[in-house]
Amino acid sequence: MGVTALGACSGGMDGILAAALLAEQGVSVELVTFESPFFSPEGGRAAALELGAPWHCEDISEGMLELLRDPPSGFGKNLNPCIDCHALMFSRLGQLALRRGAAFIFTGEVLGQRPMSQNRGSLNRIARLSGYQDILLRPLSAKLLRPTRPEMEGLVDRERLLDLSGRGRKRQRELAARVGIAPRQAAGGCILTDPAYSSRLARLLERPGLLTVENCRLLQHGRVYDLPGGALGIVGRNRRDNLALLETAGPGHTVVELTGVPGPIGVLMGSPEDLTLLCSLVAYHAKVPPGTRAILATRDGTLVSAVPATERLNDDLMIRQTR
Ligand code: SF4
Repeated sequence: MGVTALGACSGGMDGILAAALLAEQGVSVELVTFESPFFSPEGGRAAALELGAPWHCEDISEGMLELLRDPPSGFGKNLNPCIDCHALMFSRLGQLALRRGAAFIFTGEVLGQRPMSQNRGSLNRIARLSGYQDILLRPLSAKLLRPTRPEMEGLVDRERLLDLSGRGRKRQRELAARVGIAPRQAAGGCILTDPAYSSRLARLLERPGLLTVENCRLLQHGRVYDLPGGALGIVGRNRRDNLALLETAGPGHTVVELTGVPGPIGVLMGSPEDLTLLCSLVAYHAKVPPGTRAILATRDGTLVSAVPATERLNDDLMIRQTR
């Protein structure tokens, strides 16, 4: 019976090349992509289609929230806990491999490609933290790393693996041409590396009760406000924001909009004490004339009367990039 291996693939070139390299040796590769409020699995799905490989999608949202509360290996430049995030992904990959009877797991990591999360120490730490160190193969840099069990047991030929290191892409491009993979950009990003999003998320983390999957999604839309009663408020900037806010807000959120006229959607996360203030911010962005009372309604039909906030108050409360 042939050897099956499960690989992590976000849709970026390196994960695809690692899979293609193993497939060349006759390994049956299956790809696994991870999903959370911070990154989408779509690139991985497309890559699996291109390779004609079976594809699995694993939701790691709750695990990511745990890491944001307390990342054992710390954050990167922004609120990106990359080392622990990789360890979490590869731990889930290993568990899935066991369930599916796969012989080993692999990734497209390249030694030295990222200064913090792909140096030798980090690669070793990630492997150890994942709990699957002995069966975690990095085909693109394998010859520069300690042999893993699949290599020692002859399930893969180490000599046909690579010794890539550093940030250069030339050898990846050559390999892609040889195995017939179309050139592509890096996989669709992770919003945790975005400084503006990290500033918003930092305020959410200061309020542990508010760290939920829905709230992490909501923070990606509109203007976000740090309100004095302890809540966070969001006001849509355009139709796209408004639709996303309406679609994402759940029963735990208060959604408000002006009655009788179109305008921005407001969403409150946390203390209802801040509802009138959020309504004032919605009225300000709806360009209600200063001093005029506007009537807003929540989804359950509660009416709130508010005068528009001043520009100064709006600016004071809006969360801006601080990281
Ligand atoms: S960039 Fe995001 S998805 Fe990638 S390892 Fe870091 S935290 Fe995880």
